[in-house]
Amino acid sequence: MHTTGKTEDLDNGSRTDAPAGARPLWRELLGLLLPTACAGCDRPGAPLCRDCAAALTARTPRPVRPTPAPRGLPPVHAAVPYADEPRRLLLAHKERGARSLAAPLGAALARVVRAGLEVPQDTPAPPQPPCVLLIPVPSSASSRAARGHDPTLRLAEGAAAVLRRAGLPARVLPALRHARPVADQAALRAAERHANLSGALALSPAAHHLLTAPSPRSPSTDPRSHLRLVLIDDLMTTGATLTEAARSLRRATCLPLAAAVVAAPRVAFEEEWELTGNLRFRW
Ligand SMILES: [Zn+2]
Repeated sequence: MHTTGKTEDLDNGSRTDAPAGARPLWRELLGLLLPTACAGCDRPGAPLCRDCAAALTARTPRPVRPTPAPRGLPPVHAAVPYADEPRRLLLAHKERGARSLAAPLGAALARVVRAGLEVPQDTPAPPQPPCVLLIPVPSSASSRAARGHDPTLRLAEGAAAVLRRAGLPARVLPALRHARPVADQAALRAAERHANLSGALALSPAAHHLLTAPSPRSPSTDPRSHLRLVLIDDLMTTGATLTEAARSLRRATCLPLAAAVVAAPRVAFEEEWELTGNLRFRW
């Protein structure tokens, strides 16, 4: 089966580069009729209880790598292992349209972005911080239609809002779109996923113009020298999607590039990854 889908997904769903849309009416009505419970632990009360909210930020965000790590995968940081309450929260936000979770999940993601930028948590922004462009991994039209929203775009917007409140200029740049349909990734192994995705994503014309406009004579006056690009996704599994997204960006720009995800497999948290090289974020 072919979809226009995203690939290493929580659930093998697909994505679109269309703008976020309206929540289906039946979901709105259902939300009014059903009693509220925490999406992470089913505890009656708020959509997110205090314990599950704390679980999203209980760890210091850290570098994660899949095994094997695909060539071209940028540095990736994650907030939590993909398990337990965080896993349930991500699924509720993504698949059940629990939009109120976008803010706490986005806040967790903002911590990950800071870690990728090597900016200490809970400290004021430096005097002249770079402008951070958060680039969500795109969804397919079919997935977005089925879900009634674009969960990764929503997470990126939540993270950007938190970063801006902390004094870091952050904007969401929906730079990527699907260049061709891809096969359903669910039944594919890691190597097959990479082959399936190769060349699947492309830069939008607007983003291409932004990132590739002619440079001024002096590099110091090039406003793009203050830009930092951070790919955003909810989950990293094989790294295939982030690698393809990075490939499409690097065709247009040499700007520093990293990736931030809410969750990664538990095994990715069990090893110490030392991310080195010129792709690592520093300022
Ligand atoms: Zn809970």
